[in-house]
Amino acid sequence: MTDCAFCGIIARENPADIEYEDDAVLAFKDIYPKAPVHILIVPKRHVPSVMAMEREDAEVLGRCLLAARAIGEAKGFAERGYRLHVHCGPEGGQLVYHVHVHFLAGGRTGRG
Ligand code: AMP
Ligand code: ZN
Repeated sequence: MTDCAFCGIIARENPADIEYEDDAVLAFKDIYPKAPVHILIVPKRHVPSVMAMEREDAEVLGRCLLAARAIGEAKGFAERGYRLHVHCGPEGGQLVYHVHVHFLAGGRTGRG
């Protein structure tokens, strides 16, 4: 058991709607979607936050971005594009301290 919600999903102890998986990365639907397509991309290895990342974490975080590309292509957004958000720390609005990239697509085209 783990007290990290996303490690629980990775261990298949917590339910999730999984969209993508490889050896380093898991991606699943956000339970409270803020866009028509809202997927969270997480490294399988627990890294709490970009604010705590070490040099050795750079590869798995880069793998999260490659997963975003794969998800974008699989879901038909390779041309239209999408947004990737990473919330960092309390004032960055980070609620879950297992680093994750929000993949948001299919909604508004503006910034923010
Ligand atoms: P943040 O840490 O600000 O990037 O926000 C965490 C995000 O994770 C929010 O968008 C939540 O809706 C989402 N979330 C929290 N718990 C789960 C879960 N068990 N499964 C899927 N999404 C979750
Ligand atoms: Zn974790």
